[in-house]
Amino acid sequence: MDIDNMVQNSALVRAREGGGSKGRSWRWKELLRFPHISECRELAKTIERDFYDLCVYQPIGKKLFHLYCMTRQELHNYILLLDANHCVPSLTKHEQNYINSLELDPCGDVFHKCKEFLHEYLSQEPFTQYQFSMHFDRFLQWKHLERRPITKNDFREYRLLGKGGFGEVWACQVRATGMMYACKKLEKTHVKKWQGEHMALNEKELLEEVDSRFVVNLAYAYETKHSLCMVLTMMSGGDLRFHIHNMAKNGLAMDRVYFYAAEVCCGLIHLHQKSIVYRDLKPENILLDDNGHIRISDLGLAVKLEDGDLVHGRVGTLYYMAPEVISKEEYNTSPDWWGLGCLIYEMIAGKSPFRERGERPKSSEVEKRIKSKPVEYNEKFSKDAVDICNGLLNRDPKHRLGCRGSGGKEVKSHPFFRQINFRMLEAGLVEPSFKPDVIFIASFSCWQY
Ligand code: ADP
Ligand code: MG
Ligand code: MG
Repeated sequence: MDIDNMVQNSALVRAREGGGSKGRSWRWKELLRFPHISECRELAKTIERDFYDLCVYQPIGKKLFHLYCMTRQELHNYILLLDANHCVPSLTKHEQNYINSLELDPCGDVFHKCKEFLHEYLSQEPFTQYQFSMHFDRFLQWKHLERRPITKNDFREYRLLGKGGFGEVWACQVRATGMMYACKKLEKTHVKKWQGEHMALNEKELLEEVDSRFVVNLAYAYETKHSLCMVLTMMSGGDLRFHIHNMAKNGLAMDRVYFYAAEVCCGLIHLHQKSIVYRDLKPENILLDDNGHIRISDLGLAVKLEDGDLVHGRVGTLYYMAPEVISKEEYNTSPDWWGLGCLIYEMIAGKSPFRERGERPKSSEVEKRIKSKPVEYNEKFSKDAVDICNGLLNRDPKHRLGCRGSGGKEVKSHPFFRQINFRMLEAGLVEPSFKPDVIFIASFSCWQY
């Protein structure tokens, strides 16, 4: 590792830790200064007055509406009850039976009815009055600030994190808040040369739709003279390919396999709910964050299914391609469940199901194996592990696990995931057993470039 890299690494580490100012610019107050309320009149006229959008879904809107309600004595109980709805995991032992019944029917949300009733009430008179309050003025000021165009001057840039087909990914920090992100820059000349305009736009548009703790999210997008920039959730723990092949010898420990597989499964279910087929599931595209949670990244090959249509197209990475993709047949979400099968197999065995370690077979040979070679399991695979892999690696998409009507629900309830509490996992309340050493990983990745 050369001296430049060491300097870059320590700058990045310092930026992440923040120091006294939490990494914010000394001008942060100026950068985040609210516009005068008179500047927000135009916005006030055009903003759609939808209760759910303004007071439930948007985090700042929700917070300000709650603050407003707390100024009215008679609304206190409504707000307290709404907040209490989020406390499921802290229920006492007394309610264990209740929780057990929840686990039998994890999709039944016990608080749904109650919440609906509270929202129904608050969306009437309280919502009307809120729009005349100074809390709503403050909301408009936030929105005004948020709509200001973003440019590269809003960010500080740190080290290179990785390279992709159309450009580089850099660590960056928002000057006004000190938040760290990964900035994926697509070079315009490169994109044009390879006619990738459609792909680049597709990736950005799909990223705008997703909102999940298991998929890399888009925070900002802007362009410069030379590149299109997507500012994404920072994932500094390395990718799963690195962890499987460089950090472990014969596959990952099983508790990590269950955990990563479950998080990927939740990410896929989220994408599928948005009618997005991911199509590029492989260890390289699963990134770890500082704490050891994973997210699906790189939506460059993903596609949106319109009106339940099927798509076709031979895309992806050969070793992880489903048989129906190789044969150029039509498909919907089935290749992603095949991909999960390949991923679980590789995490356990330390190698892909269709390639031996260090081997470089011809593509025709790989295609033949994917279409017909029986998958072999070593002694590390438990009965449940063999069963879930066989289910997901079923060559007939109609009979594949995850594709038989109930979708991802069927995958989640497979005995392989016995140890996983999906409700806790989805709420972000499960602590990963493994925490990556981000400084080591940063210095490792700089050897690659
Ligand atoms: P491409 O679509 O060109 O393959 P990727 O999105 O896969 O580009 O990014 C290229 C590399 O940049 C990845 O392999 C990874 O090392 C790094 N990278 C991408 N996204 C992030 C992120 N959100 N956080 C950290 N590193 C990232
Ligand atoms: Mg990639
Ligand atoms: Mg890509």
